[in-house]
Amino acid sequence: MSYTHRPVPGAQGSPSPVLIEYAEAAQSGPAALAKLPPLGPSRLASLACGYTNPTPDLLTYPHRLRANSYCCMCRTPLFEGNWVQSHQKSFDAAFNLKTELMDNTPWVCVHCIIVWSADFTSDPLASALYCADGVFGLKRNTDIAAMLKNPPKGPFLATFLTTKQAHLVWRAPVCWDASEIQVRFGSEVLSVPVKPTFEALAAWRVLVQMGRDAGLKPAPAVTDAKMKASRLGEIHPSYIQLAREAGREDCITAISGLSSGQWWALNALRQSDDDAPAEMFCLRTPQGQTFERPTLAQLAAEEEANAANASQDQEEG
Ligand SMILES: [Zn+2]
Repeated sequence: MSYTHRPVPGAQGSPSPVLIEYAEAAQSGPAALAKLPPLGPSRLASLACGYTNPTPDLLTYPHRLRANSYCCMCRTPLFEGNWVQSHQKSFDAAFNLKTELMDNTPWVCVHCIIVWSADFTSDPLASALYCADGVFGLKRNTDIAAMLKNPPKGPFLATFLTTKQAHLVWRAPVCWDASEIQVRFGSEVLSVPVKPTFEALAAWRVLVQMGRDAGLKPAPAVTDAKMKASRLGEIHPSYIQLAREAGREDCITAISGLSSGQWWALNALRQSDDDAPAEMFCLRTPQGQTFERPTLAQLAAEEEANAANASQDQEEG
């Protein structure tokens, strides 16, 4: 089993066998899943990008556990014999997330040390979807739309960077149910129930058309990718009036009372092409291959060059 998120042409990635095992167990039910060790976000992310068997040399101060415990960062159970590092040796005074650590455990797991690195705390890896197929960029509206159209089967996790740099992966919820996607969005966790969000999108499209026909300039409601707009989700009164006149109050109902996660998702969906294929760009494979994503400017230049070549071919032909 696999999902259809296609890596870039030439990428030779295959799914992580360990994550596939979790996905299959999850499909079989809670009893099958309970037989596997609990899967925390940091281990999931490590597996998605090629750290299949982390060795103690990844730790600055390796320590082998003599009794079962928990990781204070990802809150995952740790077992006797696991390699860990003391949190006193891990955090300096600049670390400002101490209140998010689990109490009464002094250990950090090797996977949390992996996702501690600058690679994971800044883009591109900090705004990404981590799943059995690898790590996929989630920075652009088209990425978010593709993830919603074709969510991977659990387990997966999604993170979205709202500042220049932040610890997101170890604080991200592991999603097991693709019908409700949870996203670690800066200091918050957004929840996006997929089906109702697409219902809201359909209503949004109807309202936009009504507005266009009536010559309205503003959008039906305030949306914002960074979720910073003070009137986020506020519906424009003219649209309420239009919908009432057209007997389509159901459209207003469909976009009323959406959660902040739904507004975030709707903001991306409304700016994406509904017919675009649900493809995401692979940043890392579970075999550890890394792919450099072209910038939007590079893509535009490439498209322009292709168009120029095509018209030249036509002239020559
Ligand atoms: Zn951990």
